[in-house]
Amino acid sequence: MITLPAKLQAVLVRIARAAGQYGRDAADVKLLAVSKTWPVARIRDLAMAGQKAFGESFVQEGLDKIATLRELGLEWHFIGSLQSNKTRVVAEAFDWVHSVDRLRIAERLSEQRPASLPPLSVCLQVNVSGEASKGGVAPAQAPALALAIARLPGLCLRGLMTIPAPSDDFDEQRRPFRRLRELSEQLQADGLLLDTLSMGMSHDLEAAIAEGATLVRVGTAIFGERYTA
Ligand SMILES: *Cc1c(COP(=O)(O)O)cnc(C)c1O
Repeated sequence: MITLPAKLQAVLVRIARAAGQYGRDAADVKLLAVSKTWPVARIRDLAMAGQKAFGESFVQEGLDKIATLRELGLEWHFIGSLQSNKTRVVAEAFDWVHSVDRLRIAERLSEQRPASLPPLSVCLQVNVSGEASKGGVAPAQAPALALAIARLPGLCLRGLMTIPAPSDDFDEQRRPFRRLRELSEQLQADGLLLDTLSMGMSHDLEAAIAEGATLVRVGTAIFGERYTA
């Protein structure tokens, strides 16, 4: 019998409760453990408890962890902002990239994805809150960009991702997630096959699940306040 780390257990309970409350199947909401800044020993503990998918925001830190933990067979998601000079190592080492918001980056990832690996799963990051400081394509530009990315042979466009402006109000939290879901529905009506809505973090995962999240990216609620040492 494996005992789950208490914080991981608590997050899984939150996901299950929210799924139950909003008529979703908890099995359709994947938990991505955002391990940025946390040492590999913490990741190893969670992996032993059955958590398989981890998210990293910084390229070199992610590459180091992937190399160190190679034998665990984990699934690695890049969720940070990506510069074009770093696309090759990301395409070679990661399984997913959630933060694609420019065609040039997508083209490089596609070209640089090794032929020996399956296509890189990617999400198009959309800036639904319109905050100037945040990455992501504007909703109006998203359909054309999504169609262009979907044609790239080294990539598999899985869906959309967003990081909304933080809010403590549940209804306000739901609004940007609803916009992302509606955008995804529009793209699917245009013929794209999408299975992922990457939305919801520690403070708003219930609102995201209420609006259809299929993957929540959770750091603080699993690991604690951001680790700096
Ligand atoms: C850090 C980060 C998260 C996790 O945020 P928490 O509030 O710690 O759960 C999720 N998504 C992205 C893109 C992040 O950078």
